[in-house]
Amino acid sequence: MTAMKIRVQLPVSGLECGLSEMEASVQTHVRRYATQVLRPLGTRLDRLPAAAVVQEASEYWQVFAEFEKLGLTLETLLQLPDVERGRLLAIVFEELGWGDAGLAVALGAALIPGIVSAQNGRLDMLARYPGRLGCWAITEPDHGSDMLDSSGHARHPGTQHGRANCRVHLDGDRLWIDGQKSAWVSNGPSAQLAALFCGLVDDHGDDQRCVVLVPLDAPGVSRGQALDKIGQRALPQGEIFFDHVCLPRDHLLADAQQYAAAEYAVLTQANSLMGAIFTGVARAAYEQALAYAQQRRQGGVPLVQHQHVRYRLFHMFRKLEAARALARQTLLFNHSVSTPALQGAIASKVTATQTAFELASEAVQMFGGNGLSREYPLEKLLRDARASLIEDGCNELLAIKGGSLLSATDADA
Ligand SMILES: Cc1cc2nc3c(=O)[nH]c(=O)nc-3n(C[C@H](O)[C@H](O)[C@H](O)COP(=O)(O)OP(=O)(O)OC[C@H]3O[C@@H](n4cnc5c(N)ncnc54)[C@H](O)[C@@H]3O)c2cc1C
Repeated sequence: MTAMKIRVQLPVSGLECGLSEMEASVQTHVRRYATQVLRPLGTRLDRLPAAAVVQEASEYWQVFAEFEKLGLTLETLLQLPDVERGRLLAIVFEELGWGDAGLAVALGAALIPGIVSAQNGRLDMLARYPGRLGCWAITEPDHGSDMLDSSGHARHPGTQHGRANCRVHLDGDRLWIDGQKSAWVSNGPSAQLAALFCGLVDDHGDDQRCVVLVPLDAPGVSRGQALDKIGQRALPQGEIFFDHVCLPRDHLLADAQQYAAAEYAVLTQANSLMGAIFTGVARAAYEQALAYAQQRRQGGVPLVQHQHVRYRLFHMFRKLEAARALARQTLLFNHSVSTPALQGAIASKVTATQTAFELASEAVQMFGGNGLSREYPLEKLLRDARASLIEDGCNELLAIKGGSLLSATDADA
């Protein structure tokens, strides 16, 4: 008598359960968009020189035009109850990341000025600049990690971050902006609106910080070259320069006193979305590896018949499920409470990006020589995932910051 073998076939999103009708429908639509638009466009844009990605005739612009048809605008998302919004963001951004990491980041960055306006109680600015492609301009040539840690959680004892490269001068009912942001601003070459996190000069001193909403067609704004890099090549990045840019003072979204809370809120949101996006990248690597293991024959049998291949696939599956669970839980938790937990968002970002990188590397190994070939999708996934360990804060800096938040007492919070 042969023993009965029980085998459960899991759906694409693994152990996920309990989606509402609306969530399942959005997931299906976004998955279709990721399959039909993001995956093929991301692959083609990856092969272009950096400067060509944002040229007028580039397919990059279709990414936004087609996304708009899904109706997932920030305004729509903001109308949802908080918890529903948290769940939906996790579902949507995993699908986008599965389609293409760089383009998923481009779509996320596009929303940041609106998110920052909403987080700072300035919904009027959403109405003032509707439909503009956004970016988050925070890092600077001399301040990469520093700019993501104004609280000083990861600062070397006894040191100062030093003066910002980009500073705002308050002058009556106007403000003036001078300086530049780093070459790493996502959508820097293409954005029409920036959430600018920068230095501030006012009556209280010249080394403070603030947040300003900047329409990037304002006189005095210019851009640098599009940055050429190894991964997420479909995501255009580049410097933004400000030469005595003048705006009405009401474009100040957060002053020196409000800055720490604004930075905390945007970093929490950005890291949470990164957790969802790179869960999608990890899923893409796992799916490719599983399919290849079933189809490629070696030693007279499909790869998957070899025990070590099964062992490798199991650990990929296990890590993917853990990353998804954390990404989902973080977004859900942070949308259920009045003050979100940055340490949770960091845990999600670090886990998902590390998982995506490990799974892409495991999948390359599974593909053997084909894993290294540009004819197969794995080498791109590996390059895309590698960039994520630095993006939105290097994982080391974030881990120190997360640890500090876990152990913070009233004295050092
Ligand atoms: C794909 C991608 C997208 C990005 N998108 C944006 C964007 O939209 N907007 C934007 O403004 N920026 C963006 N960035 C910039 C990104 O946030 C920075 O690259 C990152 O914060 C690190 O800064 P840095 O590159 O200057 O490295 P540095 O700060 O010079 O750090 C170099 C190394 O030193 C380590 N290190 C530095 N300080 C510390 C510390 N205090 N404790 C421990 N280790 C430390 C780091 O971990 C790192 O390994 C993006 C970057 C990438 C790669």
